[in-house]
Amino acid sequence: MKCEELLTYLSDYIDQNLDEELTEEAQNHLATCQNCRVVLDTTQQTIFLYRKQGTRNIPAGRRQRLFKQLETAFLEKIA
Ligand SMILES: [Zn+2]
Repeated sequence: MKCEELLTYLSDYIDQNLDEELTEEAQNHLATCQNCRVVLDTTQQTIFLYRKQGTRNIPAGRRQRLFKQLETAFLEKIA
């Protein structure tokens, strides 16, 4: 799995919506890729903060922006 692919699946990975095979591939990638681990941590922390505030679900639009931001930051980093 490539970084770009992981990014595509990241949202579903966090929500545990991926099938076993993809989850394993994502985990394998995360085990070897520091950049993606940082992105995952940041995303999870953001989601955690939302939940702490009592927001159970991040509004879809906000969530989309969040992932877009991460994607941009990430692609700049690996470029
Ligand atoms: Zn990666």
